[in-house]
Amino acid sequence: MPTYKAPARDARFIINEVLDLASYGNLPGFADATADLVETVLDEAGKFAAEVLAPLNLPGDQQGCTRHPDGSVTAPEGFKAAYAQFTESGWGTLSQPAALGGQGLPHVLGFAVEEFLCAANQSFAMYPGLTSGAVSAILAKGSPEQQALYLPKMIAGTWTGTMNLTEPQCGTDLGLIRTRAVPQADGSYAITGTKIFISAGEHDLSENIIHLVLAKTPDAPDSTKGISLFIVPKFMVGADGAVGARNAVSCGAIEHKMGIHGNVTCVMNYDEATGYLVGEENKGLAAMFIMMNAARLGVGLQGLAQAEVAYQNGANYAQDRRQGRALTGPAEPSEKADPLFVHPDVRRMLMDAKAFTEGTRALALWCGLLVDLAHVAPTEEERQAADDLIGLLTPVIKGYGTDKGYDVATNMQQIWGGHGYIAENGMEQFVRDARIAMIYEGANGVQAMDLVGRKLPAHMGRAIQLFFAEVDRECAEAAGEPRLADLAERVGKANSELKAATMWLMQNAMANPENAGAGAHHYMHITGIVALGLMWLRMGKAAAKALSAGTTDTAFYEAKLVTSRYFGERYTPDAGALRRKLEAGSATMMELPAEAFATA
Ligand SMILES: Cc1cc2nc3c(=O)[nH]c(=O)nc-3n(C[C@H](O)[C@H](O)[C@H](O)COP(=O)(O)OP(=O)(O)OC[C@H]3O[C@@H](n4cnc5c(N)ncnc54)[C@H](O)[C@@H]3O)c2cc1C
Repeated sequence: MPTYKAPARDARFIINEVLDLASYGNLPGFADATADLVETVLDEAGKFAAEVLAPLNLPGDQQGCTRHPDGSVTAPEGFKAAYAQFTESGWGTLSQPAALGGQGLPHVLGFAVEEFLCAANQSFAMYPGLTSGAVSAILAKGSPEQQALYLPKMIAGTWTGTMNLTEPQCGTDLGLIRTRAVPQADGSYAITGTKIFISAGEHDLSENIIHLVLAKTPDAPDSTKGISLFIVPKFMVGADGAVGARNAVSCGAIEHKMGIHGNVTCVMNYDEATGYLVGEENKGLAAMFIMMNAARLGVGLQGLAQAEVAYQNGANYAQDRRQGRALTGPAEPSEKADPLFVHPDVRRMLMDAKAFTEGTRALALWCGLLVDLAHVAPTEEERQAADDLIGLLTPVIKGYGTDKGYDVATNMQQIWGGHGYIAENGMEQFVRDARIAMIYEGANGVQAMDLVGRKLPAHMGRAIQLFFAEVDRECAEAAGEPRLADLAERVGKANSELKAATMWLMQNAMANPENAGAGAHHYMHITGIVALGLMWLRMGKAAAKALSAGTTDTAFYEAKLVTSRYFGERYTPDAGALRRKLEAGSATMMELPAEAFATA
């Protein structure tokens, strides 16, 4: 049985020493987030994740969800009780607005807890995760009446939420949606259509399920410009908030899939179900994007989370399992063989994992801070800068974070050798669960195009210029610290590769957009490397400071410096290779005719 221990110490280091949360104490919502409170929340959430959720992960994977003949669905054994405990402890309310029953704490704390929940049990964490995405869309675009009616119960977790975009003929291309919404005399809409792949579409964890559904009104343009967003409750909700009769929405089937077996994936049938418009007609996509942007950061956290739990189990196994001898001679001569840990190739995989998980945790938590600063920073300029950076980094965390998260999970499975391939050991579950994060919430190729096609050119490249400047500033500052000078030089070089790649895209993508499409994946990965480099510089700086100040936790901070060096040596050189791939352009990639790919 795999084990999990929440990396609360590491999250605390990032929040307190790298991001210096205390320095934002004068901003709304931050005053309550004292170092003591941060420690308590991280420790308690870590305990809940490790003691309640992690033990349900493997059994939940083996049992899966069950659909009954009447269309109802039960989640795996133990999920309902764990969900009750989750809502009672208020874990879903941490960064939700206080006015609606939330705790109003900074998102950075919510992000840290979200990682723990996903690492312990991604299938479970998706139920409240989707709810919080639905909450953000209603918060941003719902009427005051809708907010008052739905949000307090969704935030409390009494009701859960879903997002219904996908249909059989329409996944990435939402313009192809066929679900219809016909206006009714009472102001509601009759929703008819079939949605597929709907996570948490039907289950027994909550009293009600609030579906957010994309559909088209009869006269709407037949494109993405004609999509509207609707609230469709599973059970109708009275004006007083009481749950009433069943709405005409049902789960027609559940999918049998590669991973996340504990989270149900439903075919949802809408048969003139009563729906309520959110925001304006034909503006549904913009509203759904609010939900998707929040969800994309959440999915990036899933990549980190699966990498982290796989890493912990890979590292433990490497110390226990004995095979062969160290290249320099027996490390433990009294034993018949040395632990796997002595082999440099095993260390390579472990160090890759450590550099990725710790770096990505810092990046994700910085983004959590930026989410708040975009709203509450004191000046318009600071709010703008935070918003620009979060927009730029969202596809990077989602795309790069889940591509690499999956790689790390498979490497950790590799450390287990054949035993990693055996289901009861749990390592293959991490790989299967990590895989979906590269696909949903916009496949990673689409994330790369979002970065290159939308985020990069927006406001004449304002966001990427800001990012370049931030990295250059951090490199210049670190150059004077002997233990960071090498990393600073390497991250500086990677940043130069990113600048050159950006310039190449500016010069070559206008003339031929396929040049952007052909290089987008590489560009996203270079940006990911530079972003993690920035994080390692900041973590290195905080570690050097703690060591100079005479910390007693020397091992923790020394390990940070060694890992930062490893990151510089082993991650940053890839930026140059990726840039050269990008600069090869699209010509060869697109040259062969379709017949050349014939398989018969
Ligand atoms: C387990 C699971 C849970 C899900 N949960 C939900 C949910 O809760 N709600 C919901 O609405 N949907 C959900 N989905 C659907 C998911 O979001 C889609 O599967 C995903 O967006 C891709 O759509 P598609 O499968 O139709 O693939 P397609 O759109 O057919 O794309 C196939 C592949 O082509 C490439 N591609 C397509 N378009 C482009 C492009 N423009 N640029 C570059 N590459 C491109 C990508 O590599 C992509 O992977 C879920 C799916 C699964 C499997």
